[in-house]
Amino acid sequence: MKKRIAILGSTGSIGTQALEVIDANPDIFGVAVLTARDNADLLIQQAIQFRPKEVVIGNEKLFDKVDAALSSYSIQVYSGDSALVSVVEAEDIDMVLTAMVGYAGLLPTIHAIKAGKDIALANKETLVVAGELITSLAKQHEVNIYPVDSEHSAIFQCLAGEGDNPIEKIILTASGGPFRGKDRAFLADVTKQQALKHPNWSMGAKITIDSATLMNKGLEVIEAKWLFDLRAEQIDVIVHPQSIVHSLVQFEDGSIKAQMGLPDMKLPIQYAMHYPFRLKSSFPRFNFIDYPSLTFEKPDLDTFQNLAIAYQVLEKGGNAACIVNAANEIAVEAFLQDKIGFLGISDVIVESLAKIEYIGNPTYSDYVQTNEATRRFASEMIQVKV
Ligand code: NAD
Ligand code: MG
Repeated sequence: MKKRIAILGSTGSIGTQALEVIDANPDIFGVAVLTARDNADLLIQQAIQFRPKEVVIGNEKLFDKVDAALSSYSIQVYSGDSALVSVVEAEDIDMVLTAMVGYAGLLPTIHAIKAGKDIALANKETLVVAGELITSLAKQHEVNIYPVDSEHSAIFQCLAGEGDNPIEKIILTASGGPFRGKDRAFLADVTKQQALKHPNWSMGAKITIDSATLMNKGLEVIEAKWLFDLRAEQIDVIVHPQSIVHSLVQFEDGSIKAQMGLPDMKLPIQYAMHYPFRLKSSFPRFNFIDYPSLTFEKPDLDTFQNLAIAYQVLEKGGNAACIVNAANEIAVEAFLQDKIGFLGISDVIVESLAKIEYIGNPTYSDYVQTNEATRRFASEMIQVKV
C-alpha cells in the first residue's frame, strides 16, 4: 500500500522537493492532493505528472485555467480559501505535508488533525501562532506531527531510541544568515537583494528574509517548545555557519547527540514522510576531510533583535507569539516591496507587541482576531512611515 500524501503548497521550495522525493520512491508514496496559491502553470504540470485525485488553486481567478488544463484527466479541481481548508479531509489521504507559507497554514492544519491525518509539518508558523491548540488537538485526535524543519528533524532523529529519557536541553543551530557578524549601522542600509542571498540554503522568499533577521531561528525556538514540550531555558541557539550540524540534544547524563549532513531539505522531508524508516538516497554525502573546521559562535541578540523577541514571547505565552508572527509577516512583505528598511522589520514587531491586546488563554477565534488586528495595525504603521 502506497502512503498517500496531500501536499499543501506544492509549488514552493519544500513542496517541489517533496515531489522529488515522491518521484524517486514511486512504490512507497502516492500523491492524493496538491495545492498552490498563484502558480497555476507549475500546479498543472505537477498534476499531470503525479495524478492526484484533487488539486486546489487558492487564487479563484486562476480556477478556469487550471480546470481547463486538467479537464481530460480524472482530477477534481477546486479553488478558494474554503477548498484549501476542506481538501485535507478526503478519505484517501494518509498524511498531510504542510508546505504553504505563513499564518495561512493554521486552519488547514486544524482540519487535517480533526480528520485524523498525520502531519508532516514544514509550516512552522502554525505552531508559532497556536502551538498549544495544535498540540492538544493532535493529542485528542491521536495524530502524529512529524517535523520537516531541518533543525527539528535533527532533534527528532537524535531522540530515536531514547524512549522516556528526559531531554536536559536542545541546541538549535543557526547559519547566522547573510549578515552574520555585521552591526546595526551596516544593517540599516542592506537591500532585499543582499538579504535574499542565503549562504547555505535555497528557500522561499519569506523564510530567507526570516533567516537574515534571525526571526526564523526565533520561530524555530517556539516551534521546538511545542514539538518537544520544552521550557524556554531548555532551548539554546548556537550559530554554526557551515550548516552541517543540524541541531543537538543533551540528555541528563550530559551526553550530547547531533545529527549531521550536507544541507539538503529532501532528507528531513523524507524522514518525516516515511518515519520511522530511512529511505535509501543518492544525495551527496558529507565528508569530514572537506570540512576541517566546523565552527560555533554565540548569536548576537543585540543586533538581531528578533531572536530575543522570540524568547520574550515564549515566556509570555498566550497570543504573544501570534502577534509577533503576524507583525513579522506584514513587515517582511513590506521589506520585500521596499517600503521599510531591514531594521524596520523589528520595529514593526516591537510596536505591534506593545499595542495589540494580550490574551492569556486564547481560543481559536482569539487567534483569528489577534492575527487580523495585528496585520491591520502593522500595515497602518508602515503606511504612515512611507
Ligand atoms: P515558498 O514560498 O517557496 O512556497 C510556498 C507555497 O505555499 C507555494 O506553493 C504557494 O503557492 C503556497 N502558498 C503561499 N501562500 C499561500 C496561502 N495564503 N494559502 C495557501 N497556499 C499558499 O515557501 P517555502 O520556502 O517552501 O516554505 C514553506 C514553509 O516551510 C514555510 O512555513 C517555511 O517556514 C517552512 N520551511 C521551509 C524550508 C525551506 O527550505 N524552504 C525549511 C524549513 C521550513
Ligand atoms: Mg530550519
